[in-house]
Order: sequence, then structure tokens, then C-alpha cells
Amino acid sequence: MRVVVLGAGIIGVSTAWHLLQRGHEVTLVDRQRDAALETSFGNAAQISVSYCEPWANREAPLKALKWLFDPEGPLKFRPQMDPAQWAWGLQFLAQCNDAAFERNVAQLVALGSYSHAALKDVVASTGLRYDRLTKGIAHYYTSQRSFDDAGGAAELMRRHGVNRKVVTKDELLQIEPALRAFGDRIVGGTYTESDESGDCLSFTQQLARLCRDKGMQSLMEHDILQLQASGGQISAVTVRDRATGLTRTLQADAYVVAAGSYTTALMKQVGVRVPIYPGKGYSATLPLLKPEAASQVSLLDDQLKIAISRLGDRLRVAGTIELGGFDLSLDTPLAQTRARMLVKRIEEVFPGVADTRTPEQGGDPQFWTGLRPATPTNIPLIGRTKVGKLWINAGHGTLGWTHGAGSGKALAELISGEVPAMDFGFTGFERAARGAGGLQLSRA
Ligand SMILES: Cc1cc2nc3c(=O)[nH]c(=O)nc-3n(C[C@H](O)[C@H](O)[C@H](O)COP(=O)(O)OP(=O)(O)OC[C@H]3O[C@@H](n4cnc5c(N)ncnc54)[C@H](O)[C@@H]3O)c2cc1C
Repeated sequence: MRVVVLGAGIIGVSTAWHLLQRGHEVTLVDRQRDAALETSFGNAAQISVSYCEPWANREAPLKALKWLFDPEGPLKFRPQMDPAQWAWGLQFLAQCNDAAFERNVAQLVALGSYSHAALKDVVASTGLRYDRLTKGIAHYYTSQRSFDDAGGAAELMRRHGVNRKVVTKDELLQIEPALRAFGDRIVGGTYTESDESGDCLSFTQQLARLCRDKGMQSLMEHDILQLQASGGQISAVTVRDRATGLTRTLQADAYVVAAGSYTTALMKQVGVRVPIYPGKGYSATLPLLKPEAASQVSLLDDQLKIAISRLGDRLRVAGTIELGGFDLSLDTPLAQTRARMLVKRIEEVFPGVADTRTPEQGGDPQFWTGLRPATPTNIPLIGRTKVGKLWINAGHGTLGWTHGAGSGKALAELISGEVPAMDFGFTGFERAARGAGGLQLSRA
């Protein structure tokens, strides 16, 4: 089969890889000069099967209200004159209850486990190296009240087959001794040994190169302009070479949209509505001054809702969510506050371990923002659409790196007429074949 994959982030590249593995002819299109230069570039690096709770829960609406006027609040809703934002917000509110939360967690764990196995297979078969650390993820708490609730969340995960353990402060400091300097503030934690971390950018770019070695046609620096439909199916896609300005049409047996937050606009061209809205996040990558004293376990800071991962001789800290359109700026007062908050926290938790100086002080923190392709449920849309030959692999929100390998494999399997071995709802158009529930694309 000839398949055109639109978007070369972790999701598109992983899809391309698994299609090639199944003998398909693949063309990959992206506007950037290489793979993973948008949201897959600077994420928190966590392969987080166990820490996958969706944003939408019983307490989320109240918390979001509280954080509305707090520039350092982890989740920030910035109201826009955009019906898509309000529609997304309403669908999100509909998920803020215990039943939906539990249902969504089950889907996310199923995909996470499937994806972790797929990632390990890819690594074993390719030998890719990407600053991978298989030391687990630990979540540390500085508030006794929040720590008291951690047991319930760990129990929920264990019900879904994920071994998240509640650990005392002393146990946590043994698991990750680098936290000792901050030990006075910590009241306890949770830990999942089976989680891991690694550089999504490096992994994706290397995998894209391997795809090209296997014969994939790669159209980098090409804008995807128009999906064309006739007779209820896609007939072609028009792309434009950014260097020459020349347009061309690509024809295939299947078209996969894996364009992250921009999937919504592309799908709309052919009448498919998807509930994907951008959730801006920030990261800072800092050179290590004392590598021997730096953490190796990937971490979650409960108070600030940020994640910290060691990437070789760098430390990456990332987090915060702003729902306010496609703005990627780093130079507004709000963006500066949020970016610097990340670095400030690193100095508090690991004093003197990383170079946390500002550029004005001679430091070189690499600040970055990216747009998480967020769905109201946090569950990505993987599978067929109502338009013939048109498939989607998008909406991976906070967990696209975690779910990348498995999402790519699952979609490649579906396109090949196989049934992915996991209990996952896909887009709803596979439901008859799968007999599973899940978010239905047609409802969005
Ligand atoms: C701060 C932050 C921290 C995160 N931390 C983690 C983490 O620790 N673990 C985890 O699992 N996930 C994490 N994520 C989420 C993860 O990074 C994303 O879910 C993932 O990168 C999404 O991948 P994607 O391929 O769908 O999108 P992208 O990487 O954005 O890829 C989409 C591609 O489509 C291309 N494209 C779009 N429109 C067009 C067009 N019109 N023409 C041509 N090309 C187009 C873009 O150039 C882009 O390359 C984090 C995200 C952020 C922002």
C-alpha cells in the first residue's frame, strides 16, 4: 500500500516506521527541516506509563479557577474569542467526574503498556541511543495533605496493573539520593520502577533516518496545504516546497494525519471535526555542573506539577499548561515568569548541581515552548475517520512520547488490517471490529 504520513513528530515518524516494517511504501511530509522540531522537541522526556492521569478530574474546574489569576499556576485557561476553545472547554468539563476519570485512566494505561512494549522492541531491533535511563519515575510531595491522597492514586494505578508504590521520605531518598539536599521539604513520595526517560528529539530524528534508509520518501520543508476529497474519500493532498514555492499533489491508498495540534485545521478541510486544542507547555534544559550529584530517576514535583529528567550531561525541567491558542512566545512577561519558575525550582531542589544562571548572569538555559495536542479526555485519536482513506494519529496531549511507539504501531496494524492487541477505543470507527468503547471521532 502507498501511505502518505502528514507530520514528522514522534507520532508521524513512529507511524512511518511501523508501516515500513509491514512492507508499505511511505512518504513522510513536514514543514520543518528535520523530524521532531515542534512539540516533540523539548518535552519532559518521561516514558510515563504509570503517571498518566488525565487533567480532567472532579477537582479540575475549581483548581483551574483558582489558577486563573496566578502567573505560576500549573494550568492556565486564557480565554480567547475562539469557539473551538470554548467547545473544547465544555467537553473537558463533561469529563470532570469520577466515572469518566476512571474510564480514561483505563484507556491511557492500556495504550501506555502497549506502547512501552513497542518502544522496547524498537530499541532492541535498532540499537538507538537517546540518553535513555531505565531508573523509573518518582513523584515527590512537599504537602502532607497531597501526600495523604497519593495512596488512592497509587491504588487506582495498581487496579489497572501498574505497580506504583507509595514510599516514605527515607525510601524516596534511597531511590534518588540526589533529592537529599531538598529532603527537609519532602514529606514522602510514590515510585514506579518500570517507567523510564530519554530524549524524544534524538530518538525521533534517528528513527526518521532509519526510515529513510529503508526507502521512505521524506518531504521535509514542505507545507501541507490541502486535503482533497471526492466521492467520500481523500483523492490527493497538496503540499508546497518551502524553498522553491512549487506545489505538488501526492496520491496514495491511505493518508495519515499526524500533525499534532494542527491536525484540527487539516481535518476541518474535509469536514472531519476533532477535539484537539493546543496546550502550551514550557521546558528549560540546563547544563550540569556536578553530574555526579544529579538525579537519574525521572521526577515529578507535586507542588509545581513539573517533571525533571536527566538527559546525559543536561537536566530538563518541564511543565505548565496554558490553554490560549497557538501562541508559542517566550518573551511575554507571563512566559518569562513561567519559564524562570522552572529554573528557580531546580536551584531549590538541586542547589549547585546545574547551571541555573540567567543569560544576563552569563548562563545558557535553553528555554522552549511547545503545543501539546490536547483532547478533553487526554486520550489520543488513533484510527479511521469517516472519510475514506483518511486516518488520524493525533491528540496525544501530555503523553505523546510515552504513547508514540505504540500509537504508531497500532495505526500501522489497523491500516494493514490487523487488530492491535490492546483494549483501546481508537476513533470509534474500529468499534465494530474491536468491540471496545472509547472516544468517538464522529461525536466531536
Ligand atoms: C512541556 C511539555 C512537556 C511534555 N512532556 C512529556 C513527557 O515527559 N512525556 C510524554 O510522553 N509526553 C510529553 N509531552 C507531550 C509530547 O511532547 C507530545 O504529545 C508529542 O510531542 C506530540 O507529538 P506529535 O507528533 O503528535 O506532534 P508534533 O511533534 O508537534 O509533530 C507534528 C508535526 O506536524 C508538522 N505539521 C503540522 N502542521 C503542518 C503543516 N500544515 N504542514 C507541514 N507540517 C505540519 C509539524 O511541523 C510537526 O513536526 C510534553 C509536551 C510538552 C509541551
